[in-house]
Amino acid sequence: MTARTPSNSAMDPEQIKSMLGAADLPSLLAALAHATGDIGFAPRELWLDPDLALQPDGGWNETQLARARELAVSGLRRVTASTARGDGGRDDALVAPLIDWLTGTDLDDDYRAMLAEELAVTGDLRVPEPLTGGAWPLNGAAGPVDHSVAIIGAGMSGILAAHRLQQAGVDCVVLEKNRDVGGTWLENTYPGCRVDVFNHVYSYSGEQRPDWPEYHSSQPVLLDYFRDCARRWGIGDRIRFGTTVESLAWDEEARRWNVRLRTAVDGAGDGTDAATETISVSVVVSAVGQLNRPLTPDIDGLDDFAGPHFHSSAWRHDLDWSGRRVAVIGTGASALQFIPHLAKEAAHVTVFQRTPPWLIPRPVYHEPLAEGLLRLFEIVPGYAHWFRLRLFWCTHEGTVGALRRDPAWTGPLEVAVSPRNDEARRLLTLYLESQFGDRPDLLAKVVPRYPVGSKRVVLDNGIWASTLKRPNVELVSDRIERIEPEGVREADGRLHRADVIVYGTGFRASEFLMPVQVTGRGGADLHEEWNGDARAYNGVCVPGFPNLFCLYGPNTNIVINGSIIYFAECATHYVVECLRLLARRGAAAMDCRPAAYDRYSARMDEHNSQMAWGISPVNSWYKSPSGRIAQNWPLPLVDYWRQTRRPDPADFELL
Ligand code: NAP
Repeated sequence: MTARTPSNSAMDPEQIKSMLGAADLPSLLAALAHATGDIGFAPRELWLDPDLALQPDGGWNETQLARARELAVSGLRRVTASTARGDGGRDDALVAPLIDWLTGTDLDDDYRAMLAEELAVTGDLRVPEPLTGGAWPLNGAAGPVDHSVAIIGAGMSGILAAHRLQQAGVDCVVLEKNRDVGGTWLENTYPGCRVDVFNHVYSYSGEQRPDWPEYHSSQPVLLDYFRDCARRWGIGDRIRFGTTVESLAWDEEARRWNVRLRTAVDGAGDGTDAATETISVSVVVSAVGQLNRPLTPDIDGLDDFAGPHFHSSAWRHDLDWSGRRVAVIGTGASALQFIPHLAKEAAHVTVFQRTPPWLIPRPVYHEPLAEGLLRLFEIVPGYAHWFRLRLFWCTHEGTVGALRRDPAWTGPLEVAVSPRNDEARRLLTLYLESQFGDRPDLLAKVVPRYPVGSKRVVLDNGIWASTLKRPNVELVSDRIERIEPEGVREADGRLHRADVIVYGTGFRASEFLMPVQVTGRGGADLHEEWNGDARAYNGVCVPGFPNLFCLYGPNTNIVINGSIIYFAECATHYVVECLRLLARRGAAAMDCRPAAYDRYSARMDEHNSQMAWGISPVNSWYKSPSGRIAQNWPLPLVDYWRQTRRPDPADFELL
């Protein structure tokens, strides 16, 4: 981000007041201290209380706020004056102490280093050292087309992997079934689709964007961001679009993967008229995502329905909704985004809810970024980075502790897992009461009966209540008996007539890497090995499948505490370091040892069993069919950063 020299009018007292009203003061003071080189802007008297991290302006009292504003005004004057003179005093030695100050915590070195990478105020700190010495690519070419690394998928993780491998000097090809980059942000085009993590956090640390139009931007904006990153990183030529990976087979002798591809030749991308080929690569990086295979509900009579019926990720933009009766099945994050739009257009919407979600109030959910904030991002060098860091810290450390079991909790585990979790339940119930208090019939249906955090929470700004209260919307919480040609029949026998059914029923999250057939050492089949219960050492490696690395793999999903982009960045770093290990050791391949894998799995299970989602029996996409938590990461974020710094050679067999 480049700072623009502000005009004199920018320093008009009224404008300063309005800018400060829109600012997050703690991160503004950190930015001013960094930009001026004066730690006095982050004084001891304003040391933040980590317990109040989630409160606006770090929970400062009136006296502290007055002092903070006074400092901010003088800092803004200093910054604008020095920017105008071109003599900004940025002092990078202040980054570490300012991170401590902004988090209100005396962090350890790892934590500080991780947060400094996330901050990236001095530039992208995650650029890998090139793999040198001519040791890469390994083992020569063996197939008709040779690429050292094949990345499956050009979504958020895949384009990042291509970028980092390219920076490390490693040749790679990206195999993408669609005609464009973006993955989930390309496929999910339903009305109302937007990111429900703060957008500043849901972005690459090395490719930050200060001027997101909204706090939670919409799908087209996200798609443009990922397209733009791919373009800036110059990876377009490495992507083979319309190319579906059918199978991966490990060639023991060549110590390489044979990757069987189907490439659409008619531009349809659906494989109907396709050419197949097999390429040979040293390494496969799976970047296929967790939430990309739609789950169509297993309800009797589904195919008997007479009208259009489709999943939210395959939205029918050709349909005219006016005058139509629509049935929606599901009340998860996707459904709560598109139902308000359907309700405005269709004659009637019947919402079938099996389990209500907990709603988290987020007043800015649909709001544009405040003008004053955008102006401050322009004026104060690095402010957007410090602002992002505070959001990262708050959403991360500030919330997840409330989902962890506390032995001091003696109440029923069906309700809460700790006093903090119970307090969250109480506050969120109050929120629902405030929203639905005038409609006891709805209130009785929308209050969840499981601990907060056992399922994914959904953001709300009041839109869910106003939608359900519309005269053309009905919320049905009884079991669905079957689907019939004219509509959906409830267990009590009532038929809800519908012209269209939309399935907001989520994704087959636990079916990692499906439907790719993966054959490893000794002919082992990956899906048989997993048996519906995917695991991976560090979320990345599986024994018997050398040089196969997963991004956003098993147990790397985070629930409310941050963004999966962070995990993709850590895992990508780890993959590059694995290749460095191979190059240094002159080995062609590495295979995770079963003992390390088992140890790691047991550690994940143990920690997940202490989290709300591991304790509650409520159904969720966090669980595999066996009931094991196969998706979620149960530990502090920094632990994943630590364990993905570099591979431990003792945990691998080198081939
Ligand atoms: P989801 O959270 O898995 O919700 C699926 C819904 O369908 C649930 O209400 C579920 O009920 C219901 N359902 C499934 N099968 C059913 C059946 N046979 N009969 C009746 N109801 C059934 O799926 P999603 O809403 O697509 O969201 C998936 C994830 O995608 C989210 O959790 C989130 O991580 C991500 N997402 C993110 C955003 C974003 O803004 N960034 C937006 C949308 C989605 P039960 O709860 O009873 O299972």
